[in-house]
Amino acid sequence: MSKTPVMGDPNSVSPNSTRDGWINKLDRKRAEGPFFDGHRVRNQGFSTQAVHAGTHDDPRTGAVGTPIYQASTFILGEDQYGSVEGGFARDRFIYSRYGNPSQWAVQEKLATLEGAESAIVFSSGMAAITASVLALVDKGAHVVAASDLYGGTFNLFNQEFPSLGMSATLVDSYDLEAIEAAIQPNTQMLYFEVITNPVLKVVDIPALVEIAKRHQIRLVVDSTFAPPPVMRPLELGVDLVIHSASKYLNGHSDLIAGVAAGPRKLVDQIWPRLLNYGGSLDPHACFLLERGLKTLPIRMRAHEESATALAKYLETHPAVDRVLYPMLPSHPDHARAKQLMKMGTGNVTFFVKGGDMAALKLMNHLRLPKQATSLGGVESLISLPFNSSQATMTSRQRAAIGIDPGCVRLSVGIEDASDLIADFEQAFTAISTKEMTDA
Ligand SMILES: *Cc1c(COP(=O)(O)O)cnc(C)c1O
Repeated sequence: MSKTPVMGDPNSVSPNSTRDGWINKLDRKRAEGPFFDGHRVRNQGFSTQAVHAGTHDDPRTGAVGTPIYQASTFILGEDQYGSVEGGFARDRFIYSRYGNPSQWAVQEKLATLEGAESAIVFSSGMAAITASVLALVDKGAHVVAASDLYGGTFNLFNQEFPSLGMSATLVDSYDLEAIEAAIQPNTQMLYFEVITNPVLKVVDIPALVEIAKRHQIRLVVDSTFAPPPVMRPLELGVDLVIHSASKYLNGHSDLIAGVAAGPRKLVDQIWPRLLNYGGSLDPHACFLLERGLKTLPIRMRAHEESATALAKYLETHPAVDRVLYPMLPSHPDHARAKQLMKMGTGNVTFFVKGGDMAALKLMNHLRLPKQATSLGGVESLISLPFNSSQATMTSRQRAAIGIDPGCVRLSVGIEDASDLIADFEQAFTAISTKEMTDA
């Protein structure tokens, strides 16, 4: 009697069972890409890579810059038919959820900037995170992750994992002993953010690499707060790097996108999840992201310059209790920041004396920074964890992850530092005179 085939046979062998040493075969080279021929910019400077890698002129008209391939589908020829049969459909254009030239152009730019063999773009950072994690973790398996993760990622582990038969233990990303102790026989992944939000911890990535290698499990990091050139986690030995490209990578607060980059073998394993969950990036959004990336290096220099000046100003202001900016010696992780970060970013967190109400007053008197969540845009953005990102927590829960009263999250844009400082100066003056007249 013939058996009805069972879809998703739980006894099938998974490529994520790394304890058999499979992970060690990651260095087995596959072809990089998929990339176009002839647009490789690998050994040149970072700004040259940002402008030229992956970008190609229109061969038909000579129009400068990658055309927007606003097509859902592609003509099927022998090569395309053969690619499906031969298992290399990721290397051909068939249908835009599978791959599109606009995606390839921006993927090559991103892979080049990260020093990766391969990259895939997604319709959001969360789509990149979900597809990557679910591709690399099996039913019944376990993940060790940071306790102060981005909210959406926390929800993936907290809300989605149980029904998928997966589990996660959340540990303080500073506590290497606790991280190692949390590893179980079924742990398949360490998942961390290289710089945490909002207290801007600089996580000891080389130590996590060492732990992951010793236990033969993969280390996946979210590097949204440290885009290249600030950090290139793959060079530190991380297996896969993920970003919300909605932030610094695109840099203009005008699109939602995500990316996962790493060895071709791993990215090829994530690609079917892109197809199944459907989070592919639209060609027009690819064009915007490609354009944004061209100025990433000069934007990062401008972010760093304005953020450093503003952080120094805030540090000397009597109404400010404490400033957290990793590139300043006052930051608890300054030594590690100097070791792991090539430069600073625009993220500055500070604590106003007088608590959350004082912070609220200050924020309401500022004219330049916009009150909005998100980060990494050319315009400065400001928000308070107590009434936005961490509003559902109690003040005690917030304090446990370093969010003391008066905490202000600032993503410094690329405006002139002198204008930002003048704006803060007038806001501080306004709240102090108001307090005096109130009294
Ligand atoms: C914004 C963000 C995400 C989610 O990205 P989306 O593009 O909004 O889906 C993930 N991780 C971090 C650290 C983020 O800041």
